Amino acid sequence: METKLLMPTEAAIQEAARLLQAGQLVGFPTETVYGLGANALNEDAVRSIFAAKGRPADNPLIVHVADPAQLDHICEVTDTARLLISTFCPGPLTMLLMKKGTVPSVVTAGLPSVAVRIPSHPVARDMLAACQLPIAAPSANTSGKPSPTTAQHVLDDLRGRLPLILDGGECQVGLESTVLDLTSPIPTILRPGGITPEMLLTVLPEVKVADSILRPLMDGEKALSPGMRYKHYAPSGTLSMVKGKPENVANLILARAREAAAKGQAVRVLAFEEHLPLYEGVETVCIGSVENPASAAQRLFATLRQADDDHIPLLFSEVLPASGIGLAFMNRLCRAAGFTELDADAEAAK
Ligand code: AMP
Ligand code: MG
Repeated sequence: METKLLMPTEAAIQEAARLLQAGQLVGFPTETVYGLGANALNEDAVRSIFAAKGRPADNPLIVHVADPAQLDHICEVTDTARLLISTFCPGPLTMLLMKKGTVPSVVTAGLPSVAVRIPSHPVARDMLAACQLPIAAPSANTSGKPSPTTAQHVLDDLRGRLPLILDGGECQVGLESTVLDLTSPIPTILRPGGITPEMLLTVLPEVKVADSILRPLMDGEKALSPGMRYKHYAPSGTLSMVKGKPENVANLILARAREAAAKGQAVRVLAFEEHLPLYEGVETVCIGSVENPASAAQRLFATLRQADDDHIPLLFSEVLPASGIGLAFMNRLCRAAGFTELDADAEAAK
């Protein structure tokens, strides 16, 4: 199958809508990452999403709609959900609500709840409005790869597996949506994203953050969100996070880089703008500014993909405090690093 990459003109949006209505797949931009969409009410169309991505069938999808009124058709919208919709939607917030019979169980991997979201990206909104359908869409990457934040990433992963990708440029948030479980007694964040715990607490009396967000699942522990069970976002090289005072972090990384260089191994450091001068002699990628953690979130996945394209065997990354958008950044970075973290202050004290 030929995969077309189109700028989101009115004609391209109409073509996307026609394809979706005909049960086909469309890659489209959202404010979080690119999605791989299909008609959520068409079981065969939804199955083809899993096939194109190589996604395990027990990892449920998020259903996207343009208008909150469409949600009543697919799930039980609670008062808390209505409050959150009026405050944060359209935006990077996915809510888990009890599903209705209209949603085929292949969408929710057999679960009684369905994940729903109202994206804010104008191209996603135009496409959803044009097709007038709820669209099931996971991230448009091959399963296991970092989520795509440009149309080119989607093409790199899925060329030949879908007829159309709409090119809406770089995604603004750059990390997948916050997944908030509204079926539990206290709203619980299962996956952190652009809508932070701090933001949710401005309108909700209480919010829980699943404690497995910054640590690996223990043996036999059940993942609250099936997606958290899978290895995610991992680059093919070895990535280590390094925490501590910036000077200590840089010294530890420089020492490791020298050892690697002696073995002829290439090293790349993901560092914050403010610390770049500390890394003379090593290849660095500026991941953003400490003052603006959202910039680091936006660039993380593209940086990991680039490292793979460049076949970098050894990667080191500086870290952020796990608050605000930093929580979502660290959740993805921890997974990319397989939870390997070096303590530069402890090393310096030896
Ligand atoms: P993706 O669309 O690739 O960002 O993945 C969607 C995320 O939402 C995955 O981590 C899923 O496991 C999670 N998810 C979707 N539906 C449900 C559900 N009904 N219950 C729990 N987690 C869900
Ligand atoms: Mg995904």
